Amino acid sequence: MVNMQISAIANKKTQLSAIAATITILLVVSIVITIDFPEEDSSFGSLEVVFFDVGQADSILLKTGEHAMLIDAGNTGQDKLMLNYLSEYSVTKLDYLVATHPHADHIGAMTAVVKAMDSIGEVIMPDKPHTTVTYRNLMNAIDEKNVPVTIAEVGQVFDLGDAKVQVLAPKDVGGNDLNEVSVVLRVTFGETVFLFTGDADVKSENAQLSSGLPLNADVLKVGHHGSRTGSTANYLNAVAPVYAVISCGTGNTYGHPHAEVMTRLNDRNIAIYRTDELGTIIFVSNGKTITINGEENPSTTPTITPPPAETITYIGNKNSKTLHLDSCRSLPAEANRVYFDSKQEALDDGYKTCGTCKP
Ligand SMILES: [Zn+2]
Ligand SMILES: [Zn+2]
Repeated sequence: MVNMQISAIANKKTQLSAIAATITILLVVSIVITIDFPEEDSSFGSLEVVFFDVGQADSILLKTGEHAMLIDAGNTGQDKLMLNYLSEYSVTKLDYLVATHPHADHIGAMTAVVKAMDSIGEVIMPDKPHTTVTYRNLMNAIDEKNVPVTIAEVGQVFDLGDAKVQVLAPKDVGGNDLNEVSVVLRVTFGETVFLFTGDADVKSENAQLSSGLPLNADVLKVGHHGSRTGSTANYLNAVAPVYAVISCGTGNTYGHPHAEVMTRLNDRNIAIYRTDELGTIIFVSNGKTITINGEENPSTTPTITPPPAETITYIGNKNSKTLHLDSCRSLPAEANRVYFDSKQEALDDGYKTCGTCKP
């Protein structure tokens, strides 16, 4: 089973290598003319981009020299897993900690990360608070450690060593959909480009398309775990990635990644790497080329811990103080919803359980 998956990927990589070589030649020609690329600078090392296996959640480490950025930090209950991952990569300081949006599958273990780090340069997040204990705990931890918070704004640029990080979203933080306020980052390292989308869906994608900023990337972190609510044809055409990474959990209850998205990626010959199939996935850029899990040997993928159990989303009606499962037929209107990470959290807030879905 595992060998079949790996050889399928190897075949796809072989097919793609000819295309990639052509693209590389074209890029080299154009970049020599337009970009001040520090070719002669021996300190221009490599950028590691590690998509941690955190089940149905996101966490991505970018490391170049002494510089590190963490985008999201796994799910509730993954404190130990996240801290193990970071110590495996000898990360004790972060230049940037990015909370793409305040859902538990992105900030679940972030409080533990904030507490464990020797220093954090700044936290980057959207201007969108959440009602959960998980979110409040995170903000308290950030406050206690006096970590500066930068509200993400379209067009901002940050330096991460020799990598350049540009904010593409969110443009509009109105509305109740927390996924659509995800911080989207485009990271350029030499001639290679990575795009990190959090849980951005179609509204965010359309705003990025009309922003006028470049969206093209070699590697796309597929938005929202491969949900059909994003990864539109227009967006994929603009990004035009060679590689797509989907961070999702085995047998997750959402059915991520959705078949429509897989079809759209396959139709464009984009090589797909999934954390539910491969575990943690490591991309390394030297500024010119990208290797994945050591290029010729994808079987070197480290799997440190098996993916955690799925988490259930609990939705409370803030008027009637009733708690529902997200599958319940009598869910309140979006404006009256409060999201909880656990049943206990809701009970602590004085909620009673729904008689229909019996959470
Ligand atoms: Zn998510
Ligand atoms: Zn989300």
